[in-house]
Amino acid sequence: MSHDYMKYASFESPSDVVDWLETETARLWPALLGSLSFRRSPCVRENCPACMSGEQHPSYVLYGRVNGRRLAVYVPEELVPEVRRSLDNGRALQELLQKAAPRYVKALKRERAKAPKTKKV
Ligand SMILES: [Zn+2]
Repeated sequence: MSHDYMKYASFESPSDVVDWLETETARLWPALLGSLSFRRSPCVRENCPACMSGEQHPSYVLYGRVNGRRLAVYVPEELVPEVRRSLDNGRALQELLQKAAPRYVKALKRERAKAPKTKKV
């Protein structure tokens, strides 16, 4: 458990958690989910030196999922760093949301405990 978590966990309110989430997520855009694969494939040209040497042609493909359907999108090499960064952001965002869940629920419970007239179940 992180230092920050221990430091704030005992008194933060739900809106503190929301503020924290907004601050932390602000630097994570664009955030993408998917997987970037590298592959080498042959081309259609005859006597292509790259293909004949076995090197073939490197290319990147982003695999994503839209409405449950797998989707492949070709990614030009010069866009690969940007796509990678966005995928890293996506993973960081997922981790952050995982961390946020217990923190937010604890804050909600703390708030509920403070409200004397709320009927507790
Ligand atoms: Zn070729």
